[in-house]
Amino acid sequence: MQDYPNSYYIDSLDRKLIHHPSLKDSYECDLCIIGGGFTGLSTAIEASKKGLKVILLEQNKVAWGASGRNGGQIGPDISNGVESLEKKYGFATVKSLWDISLDAVKLIDHRINEFEIQCDKKSGNLSAATNQAKIQDFENEINYFQRKLDYHSSKILSKDEVSKAVGTDRYFGGHLYHEGGHLHPLKYALGLADAALSLNVEIFEDSKVIKISEEKDYVEVFTSSGFVKAKNIALCCNAYLEEIDAGIKSKIMPIINYMIATKPLDEDLQKTILPSDYCVCDTNFDLNYYRLSYDKRMIFGGGVSYSLKHSEKLAKNTERRMMKVFPNLSDVKAEYIWGGYVGITVNRTPDIGQSSQKIFYAHGFSGHGVALTGIAGKIIANSIVSGEKGALETFEKIKHKNFPGGRLFRMPLLVTISALQKMTDIFNA
Ligand SMILES: Cc1cc2nc3c(=O)[nH]c(=O)nc-3n(C[C@H](O)[C@H](O)[C@H](O)COP(=O)(O)OP(=O)(O)OC[C@H]3O[C@@H](n4cnc5c(N)ncnc54)[C@H](O)[C@@H]3O)c2cc1C
Repeated sequence: MQDYPNSYYIDSLDRKLIHHPSLKDSYECDLCIIGGGFTGLSTAIEASKKGLKVILLEQNKVAWGASGRNGGQIGPDISNGVESLEKKYGFATVKSLWDISLDAVKLIDHRINEFEIQCDKKSGNLSAATNQAKIQDFENEINYFQRKLDYHSSKILSKDEVSKAVGTDRYFGGHLYHEGGHLHPLKYALGLADAALSLNVEIFEDSKVIKISEEKDYVEVFTSSGFVKAKNIALCCNAYLEEIDAGIKSKIMPIINYMIATKPLDEDLQKTILPSDYCVCDTNFDLNYYRLSYDKRMIFGGGVSYSLKHSEKLAKNTERRMMKVFPNLSDVKAEYIWGGYVGITVNRTPDIGQSSQKIFYAHGFSGHGVALTGIAGKIIANSIVSGEKGALETFEKIKHKNFPGGRLFRMPLLVTISALQKMTDIFNA
C-alpha cells in the first residue's frame, strides 16, 4: 500500500486521519465501489442514503489519488466549452450537460453544509486570456451562455480589472464565474469519507481489487485477501485504473500534472498577489492554474510530464512558470511539490455509463473533476436504485473514442501532441 504523497495538503490537515481496515474474508452487499476518491465517495454517500448496503474498496488510502492532490478549482462546464458539443449532439443534450455541471457546483456547497465539512472553500473562478483572440472567444461564450443557456452568473473582466484581481499585467482580460471557486481538496474528500461512514458505508483501505468476475445475478470482486459479492459495482478508479478494465480503459489517458505550494506570502506580497482570492486558470493549452491557500501560500500547477520522478527538476520548472506570471515572486521558493494523474478523454468530456447491466463507471473528468465527480456519483447511485438510466442517458449519448496506441505508447503520443500545442501557445502569445 502506498501512503499519501508528501504535499502541502497532507501537512495542512487540522484533523486526525482515520485508518480503515484492509478487506479480509468475504462480504455481500448491494453495491461495491472500487476507488476511494471523490467519485467513489460520492457514489457511496448517495447510494447508502437511498438504503443500499455499500462497501468501498480503496487500494491505498481514501483520497490517495487525484482527489487528494488537485488544484481544488471548481467551475461549471463539462468539456472544452459545452457549446462545442452542440453541432454533434444537439442543443437538448448540451443544455442537459450544462445544467448537470451547474448542479455539480451547487452540490459541493450543499455537501459542505449538510456534513459540516471544513475545507477552506472560497468563491470566484477566473479564466484569464493569454492573447487578444481569447477575448473574442469569451464574448462568444458569454453570448451563448446568456442567449441559449439562460446563464447570467459570469462576466467578462477587462485587462485592467484582471490585473487588479490577479496582481499581474500578463493577461488580456478574463471570464469570471461567480459560482465557481476553490477548496482544500484533501479536507473535502476526508469530509466526504466521514459522511459516508456516518451513513454506514463500510470503507476498506489497502484493498486493491485484482479481479472482477460478472455472474448472472451478481459480480464477484477479489482482492488478494478478501472477496465481495455485490449486486452491482461502480468502477471509480479514474486515471489509476490498471488491472481491471471492463472494456473502458482505452477511453481515458492518464497524464501527469504537477503542483507546487510556496511558503506563506509575506504581508506586502499578500496585498498585491491575488487580492480577489479567486482561483485562476489561463487559456493556454499547456495551462497554468493557481490560487492562494487559506494561509496565503501560492498553490500553482501546470506542465505535463511522463513520470512522477525527477521532482527537483519539475519543481524548478513549475517555479519558473509561476515567476513568469508573477515576477515579484522570484524570491519565493516552492516548499512542496507533488504530482498526480489526471484522467482525460479524447473529447475532454467525462465518460460516465454502464459497461454491463451490473457494472457502472465514471472517469475521464479531464480537469473538471472537483465538481463533476460529485454529480457523477449521484447519477450512478440514482440509476442503480431506480433501475432507470436517468441522467446517465445524457452521458451515454456522448461517444468516446479509444486513445490510439497501447498503454505504453499513449503517453509519449500525448507529450508529442502537447509539445506541438505548446508551440501554438507561444506563437499566439
Ligand atoms: C495535480 C492535479 C491537479 C488537478 N486540478 C484540478 C482542479 O483544479 N480542478 C478540477 O476540477 N480537477 C482537477 N484535477 C482533476 C481531479 O482531481 C480529478 O478529476 C478527480 O479528483 C477524480 O476523482 P476520482 O475519484 O474519479 O479519481 P481519484 O481521486 O484518482 O480516485 C481513484 C482512486 O481509485 C483507486 N484505485 C485505482 N485502482 C484501484 C483498484 N484496483 N482497487 C482499489 N482502488 C483502486 C486509486 O487508488 C484512487 O484513490 C486535478 C488532478 C491532478 C492530478
